[in-house]
Amino acid sequence: HAFDKIRNFSIIAHIDHGKSTLADRLIQFTGGLSDREMSEQVLDSMDIEKERGITIKAQTVSLQYPADDGETYTLNLMDTPGHVDFAYEVSRSLAACEGSLLIVDASQGVEAQTLANVYQALDRDHEIVPVLNKIDLPAAEPDRVREQIEDVIGIDASDAIEASAKSGIGIKDILEAIVKRLPPPQGDFEAPLKAMLVDSYYDVYLGVVVIVRIMDGVLKKGDKIRMIGTKATYDVDRLGTFTPKMIDRQTLEPGEIGFLIASIKEVADTRVGDTITHERKPCDAPLEGFRPAQPVVFCGLFPVDANDFDELRAAMGKLRLNDASFSYEMESSAALGFGFRCGFLGLLHLEIIQERLSREFNLELIATAPSVVYEMGMNNGDEITLHNPADMPDVVKIKEIREPWIKASIMTPDDYLGPILKLCQERRGIQTDLSYVGSRAMVQYDLPLNEVVFDFYDRLKSITQGYASFDYQLADYRAGDLVKMSVLVNDEPVDALSMLVHRSQAEVRGRSMCEKLKDLIPRHMFKIPIQAALGGRVIARETISAMRKDVTAKCYGGDATRKRKLLDKQKAGKKKMRQFGKVEIPQEAFIAALKMD
Ligand code: GDP
Ligand code: MG
Repeated sequence: HAFDKIRNFSIIAHIDHGKSTLADRLIQFTGGLSDREMSEQVLDSMDIEKERGITIKAQTVSLQYPADDGETYTLNLMDTPGHVDFAYEVSRSLAACEGSLLIVDASQGVEAQTLANVYQALDRDHEIVPVLNKIDLPAAEPDRVREQIEDVIGIDASDAIEASAKSGIGIKDILEAIVKRLPPPQGDFEAPLKAMLVDSYYDVYLGVVVIVRIMDGVLKKGDKIRMIGTKATYDVDRLGTFTPKMIDRQTLEPGEIGFLIASIKEVADTRVGDTITHERKPCDAPLEGFRPAQPVVFCGLFPVDANDFDELRAAMGKLRLNDASFSYEMESSAALGFGFRCGFLGLLHLEIIQERLSREFNLELIATAPSVVYEMGMNNGDEITLHNPADMPDVVKIKEIREPWIKASIMTPDDYLGPILKLCQERRGIQTDLSYVGSRAMVQYDLPLNEVVFDFYDRLKSITQGYASFDYQLADYRAGDLVKMSVLVNDEPVDALSMLVHRSQAEVRGRSMCEKLKDLIPRHMFKIPIQAALGGRVIARETISAMRKDVTAKCYGGDATRKRKLLDKQKAGKKKMRQFGKVEIPQEAFIAALKMD
C-alpha cells in the first residue's frame, strides 16, 4: 500500500554532535528549501534553542526523496527535545516513528545523553541506523567509535555510516539507509481514525497548529474530530505536511505525519500524546502511554518593579498560549508584593520561561526558591496539596507530609562513580541497582524530587565533566520528616526565603542561607541579626555589624559631577532593593541566597 513509500524517523544525538546540522543537510539535499530559504539551522527556531544548542519543542519535516530503486519516498523527520525535563515529549515523538538515526560525533564518541534516548528508542522497537558524524575532522576515529557503540549500546555498528553533516559527506548514504533499513509504517485504512497528537504550537496567524501521526483510518479536511483525552470536538479547517513550508492536503493517511488546524484557541486545549479520532465513528481504545503534563516544580515570579505587574501578567498569558505545561496563578507575598506562583516541568523549563520573560518582554524578575508539590494529611482527615511553602498550615494540625520521589537512572564512565554515589547519598538517595556495560556504570536511585530540583543536574554535570547522563521518572509520594524553615532578617520573617526541608538537612541549609545573606545584605546604620528557624526554634544565626557613620560622610564630598553620578548610581541601586521592615535587601541577594552550593 501507499505507506510502503513512507519512512518515519527521529534523530538521536548528544548535544553538539551535529543533529541540527544534519537535519538541515537532509532538507537541503532533498530540495525542501532553496538555498536562499535555508537560514542557518532551520529546525531550532527559538532564539533560546539556538543559543543553548538544545531543541525545546519537537519539530517535523516531510522530505521527498527519489531513491536509487527508482521510487520516490516520503521521509518524515521528527526532531526531538534533548533534555530530561521533556522526556515525555521525546517518548511521544519516538512513538510516532519506526526508526532512529543515531548520530555520534566520531571525534568524541558515545556520550551521556545519547544513551537515555537510544534506550527509549530500543524500547519502542526502533530500527536504529548509526551515523558517525564529523569524519572531516582530523581527530575523528570512526573505527574506535564504531566499536564503542557496539560495546556501550550493544547494537550492531558494522554498517554505521561515516558522514560529515558540515561538508556534506555521506548524506546520500544516510537517505538510502533510511529507505532500505528502516521499516515502513503500518496501519489500517478501513479502521476508524486513530491519530496521535505529537505536538502543537501557537501561530499568530493560524492559531493552534497540531502535529499528528495517523495510525489508522483517513483524516479528511472538513472532518469533525474528537480528542479523547480532553473530550473536545473540532472541525478540521486545514490539513497538510511540512516541507518545512506548510503544504496543504485534502487527506492524511495511515503512517503519515502532518499538521491539522481546527480553530483551537490555545495550546492548552491540546495534550501531547492524546488520541484524535472521528466524532461520528470513534476508535474503540485510545493510544497507550498518554499522560497529561503535570507541573512538578513551582516557584514564585515577582516583578522587581511593582509597576510591571500587569505587563508580567500579559507576558505570561502569551507564553502560556504556546506552552500548555507552564501554569501560573496570582499570589502575593509580604516581602515581594504581587506576583505569580508558576508551575514547570522541571528546572530547565523554569529557566527557559524566566529567560524568555526577561528577554522577549524585558521584565526584571525575582524568582523564589523552586519547590516541589507536597501532599499533607491533616489531623481532621483533610488532604491538602501544597504548592507554596509560605502557605504551609499550622504544624500542630498536620498529621503527615508526603513528598514526591523519583526513580533516577544515571549512566557514567566508572571513573566518576564514587563522586556520584556520594552526591546521591547526600541527597537522601536510596540505591536500588548498579550494573556495568563495558566501562560504563549504570546506577539506579530512588531520590526525593525536592533534593533534585535545586541543582542536582548541575552538580552531576560538574563532578562528571558532563559525561554522566541523568534521567528520571516520578515514582510516588512518601511520607518524610519535613519541616518548614523560616528565615528572619532583623526579626522579620522573609516569606520568599522560607522553604520545606528534610529535618536532617535543616541545619546545614539554614547555616548556609544565613552565611550567604550575611555577605549579600549591605551594612546598615544598625546591627542586623539573620536567623533560620524551625517554628520558634532558631537553628542558625549570623549578625551583620552596623556601618561606621563616617563612611556615608565621604559620599558628600567631591565635585558636582561625581556627586551626581553617585546619586544616580544610588537611585539605580534603589530600584533593585526590597524593603523588609527597616532593612533593604538587594535583589541579587534573593537570587544568590536561593542558589545552593
Ligand atoms: P546538535 O546540538 O546535535 O544539534 O549539533 P549542531 O548541529 O548544532 O552542531 C554542533 C556543532 O558542530 C556546530 O558548530 C556545527 O557546525 C558542528 N558540526 C556539525 N556537523 C559537523 C561535521 O560533520 N563536521 C564538523 N567539523 N563540524 C560539524
Ligand atoms: Mg541542535
